[in-house]
Amino acid sequence: MEQQPKPPVRAVLFDRDGTLVFDVPYNSDPELVRPIPGAADVLSRLRAEGVPTGVLTNQSGIARGLLDRSQVDAVNARVEELLGPFDLWEICPHGPDDGCPCRKPAPGMLHSAAERLGLAPEELGFIGDIGADVDAARAAGARGVLVPTPVTRAEEVEAAELVAGSLAEAVALLRGPA
Ligand SMILES: [Mg+2]
Ligand SMILES: [Zn+2]
Repeated sequence: MEQQPKPPVRAVLFDRDGTLVFDVPYNSDPELVRPIPGAADVLSRLRAEGVPTGVLTNQSGIARGLLDRSQVDAVNARVEELLGPFDLWEICPHGPDDGCPCRKPAPGMLHSAAERLGLAPEELGFIGDIGADVDAARAAGARGVLVPTPVTRAEEVEAAELVAGSLAEAVALLRGPA
């Protein structure tokens, strides 16, 4: 029996580093922000369709003392200059040993995003480049899609329920073909 197709998600959320922009570890310099090819197109299509978009990002460089919040905000402002405005941002400033509810793979930022958008977690899609992203989506009850980069670990690709070769493909898995 064919599996019932799931309804399109009602918001599409993204990881930042390695997903929307090339990963520059602990980046504090807006000048180093480089969008992933295709990201701007995917986002403008979603905005044209009236689909809310957001970014959920772990920024442990803050907890590690390598970055401060104003530097993260400046980098995020540059991301919006290059890719357009997002409906929401969720930033985890904590480190891996802080036991916070927000650092992915914990589901806190997805829960918060759902609440802010007035949607159920099941109505959210979340696209990221590592296992912690899709694990956070799964833990929240949202639909995660992995878009691997050359540095994504093979076991994380194997463990992901949905894997796509590009952001456009990932959005098509969540929203149906364009
Ligand atoms: Mg990432
Ligand atoms: Zn946190």
